[in-house]
Amino acid sequence: MILIFMGPPGAGKGTQSETVVDKLSIIQISTGDILRKAVNEQTALGVEAKRYMDSGNLVPDEVVIGIIRERIVEDDCQNGFILDGFPRTVAQAEALDEMLQEAGKKIDHVVYFDVPEKELIIRLLSRAEKEKRSDDNLETIQNRLNVFREKTEPLLEYYKSRDSLRFIEGTGTIEDVKGRLFKAIGL
Ligand code: AMP
Repeated sequence: MILIFMGPPGAGKGTQSETVVDKLSIIQISTGDILRKAVNEQTALGVEAKRYMDSGNLVPDEVVIGIIRERIVEDDCQNGFILDGFPRTVAQAEALDEMLQEAGKKIDHVVYFDVPEKELIIRLLSRAEKEKRSDDNLETIQNRLNVFREKTEPLLEYYKSRDSLRFIEGTGTIEDVKGRLFKAIGL
């Protein structure tokens, strides 16, 4: 199964990815995690990505598209995968469509986790305390939310015309959201 998890920062994409990974034995591909690892290891990719990430801006399309292009052909992806945080722009979505078409694969569900902005800010500030992510401070959070509205929300239009788009209310407990998610994707 190929799933795309979309939603603003703090919507619970990563948390819910874990529930599906456990259930379906497919893997989660988080471009944010891949980039953070590169930053920690101070690779050339990490050095380039860090300045965008620290300010809450998107890393250039060609960089993340390259990451996904290489990742989804690996052996552990053949059973399926969840894309968590990719695509984030229409250009990324178009590139993904091309890659999947070439591989003879298709997206099963695009899941959108909907959470009100006030709640997102509370969640992200609490994550900042726990995980010490350098981009979880109030100024960067505001920018990430703006970038989401401006660059990523238009993807809803892109996917709306297909019958694969599922809206999930992302509020409540992890179990609440998991229940809605599993129902929406037929698990
Ligand atoms: P995330 O952990 O998904 O919130 O991503 C953290 C940061 O990594 C984002 O604020 C971006 O700077 C960068 N990033 C992650 N995924 C993408 C993507 N698909 N396109 C561009 N930048 C990304």
